[in-house]
This record gives sequence, C-alpha cells and structure tokens, in this order.
Amino acid sequence: MFGIKADWSLDVYERYFTLGDYSGGEVRWCAGCGDFAVLNTVHRVLRDAQMPPEKSVAVSGIGCSSRLPHYMGTYGLHGLHGRALPLANGVKSRRPDLDVWVATGDGDCFSIGAGPWIHSLRYNVDMVVLIFDNGIYGLTKKQTSPTSLSGTKTNTHPFGAPLPALNPLTTSLGVTNVSFVAQVVDWNPPMLYETIKAAHQHRGTSFVRILQRCPVFSEEFTKPLQDNPDRFVVLEHENGIPMSDAVKRIFGNVVEHDPLDWLGAMKYARDEETLPLGLLYRDPDAAVYDDFSNVGLNTSNEDKIAAIEKAFEQFAI
Ligand code: SF4
Repeated sequence: MFGIKADWSLDVYERYFTLGDYSGGEVRWCAGCGDFAVLNTVHRVLRDAQMPPEKSVAVSGIGCSSRLPHYMGTYGLHGLHGRALPLANGVKSRRPDLDVWVATGDGDCFSIGAGPWIHSLRYNVDMVVLIFDNGIYGLTKKQTSPTSLSGTKTNTHPFGAPLPALNPLTTSLGVTNVSFVAQVVDWNPPMLYETIKAAHQHRGTSFVRILQRCPVFSEEFTKPLQDNPDRFVVLEHENGIPMSDAVKRIFGNVVEHDPLDWLGAMKYARDEETLPLGLLYRDPDAAVYDDFSNVGLNTSNEDKIAAIEKAFEQFAI
C-alpha cells in the first residue's frame, strides 16, 4: 500500500490505515453532542500518524465521553468511575510500546477522579488525556459537576449551583511537573485537530480540556460561547499550536503567548471572562515517569525469581 504526499511523491508502507481502521462500534451519543467531533478528530490524528490500530489503546472511566473506547477500532478499556488515569498509567508502565489515550469527563476526572488527576499530571507518563468538559453529569441526567457554572439549575441543585466553578486550567498548571496544558472547543474542527495532534506528539501527559457541547443537559454551558467568539482569546506562538487564518478570523482576539512561560499561562488560565484557546503551557524538559517505570521491563523470569529470593533473604533470621 502507499500514501500520496502533497508533492505527488509516494511513501510506500507495508500497511496503510484508513479512517475505518480506527472506527469501532455504532456510536450512541445524542444528536448534536460535541463528542462526535472529538471522536472523529482522534480517528484523523491516528490515521495521519499511521499508528497501527493494535498499537493504540483508549482508556476511560464512566460518563458519556467514557464510551469512546467502544467507538475505536483500537484496543480499549472502559474502567471504573474516576479511575481512567490510574488504569492508563498502569497500561503504559507495563506496555510502553502502546500509544495511550484517555477519555474522561468533568465529573469523572475533576470530582471522584481528582486525586488521580493531580498525581497523573505530576507523574507525566506519556499519554494523551482528553477532558470532555460539558459542565454537567450527562450520563446520569443533569447533576451538578465541579465545572457547572454558578447558578446552573440541575437535579442536585434545582435552585442553581451555589459554588463558583472549579478552574481546571489553573489547577492543572499548579501541579508540579505538569508538562502540557491546552484548551480547545469541540465546534472548531481545525483547531481541535491541531490541538489533539500536538498533544499526541508531545512526550509526557498532554492535558487537553475540551469545552464540549451537551445540547441535552447543559446548553447554557457552551451556547453563549458559541454565539460570542469574542469570549475567547487565541494563543499563538512559534512554540505553540499552529492556528490557521480561518481559525483566527472566527476568533478575533489573537495574542502572542510563549507556552514555555508558566506565569503567562497562569494569567490567561485565571481569566474567566476571556477564555484562552490553544497551548497554555508546555515543558519539554519535565521528568517523564516512563523513564523510571520502564527500567527492568525486559528482565527474564529467572532473574525476577532470583531477585525476589534475594530480597527475601534479608528477612531470614
Ligand atoms: Fe452528549 Fe449530553 Fe447526550 Fe451525553 S447527554 S451523549 S454529553 S448530548
């Protein structure tokens, strides 16, 4: 098989993967759900990287977005609520050759999964973490999530969510050894593609918060943002994520921001009136836990047994 490049020359591959190779079961999200855009983008990024489907694994917790592994033609693991990240860390630590993706939502990651979220960012294992943030528990039909906007009427707070919403960007940026923090919207395909592609290419834990449409239970979370692109500021820099002219025409506010600048990233992350889009922060030199957890992976069974026996010897009386 072969792939045709822009200059009409040919790359010859032993196998050439099409989008269909990354597709899984019948998708059952609601019509108009932003999750479709993310799923299609993940398929495209994998196709463009020509990643063998059997070398990728999608891991999730519980929630609407956590159904993503079912819709992938790769390996997948649909885990427990809030536990996608520990599972993904485990997969990557034993199988560093696999390309690991995590799909998790605001309820799954920022509430019951808050502990694993913080520690996973610090461990900085090489994987992509996609946060489908729709500001609501959608699968269980409209309970307040940590990112529900203050005043949102939900089944758990029928008179309106009483607390200010958690800011996942400032929280993530505050974690020691965090290495990649980006924010994007699901309704702009070019930006979504470039952001997820950059996350996939980064070595370390790439945290991508996706502001995601849930037209069934939390239209008020994204509709005002869709209707008013001036609520956003697009971050642009040669060290950041490329933004096409078409993207910049839609979102008029564009600023230069070097993602190596942590203080600048925090400044944009804290601004809840004008929300940043693009790459807030990237640290290419952050420690990657894979470099530690991979040590000794190829040890033979005989050597493992010998090491265990040696360890036991120190307890001999
Ligand atoms: Fe998507 Fe909301 Fe439907 Fe869940 S409930 S599938 S998030 S539109």
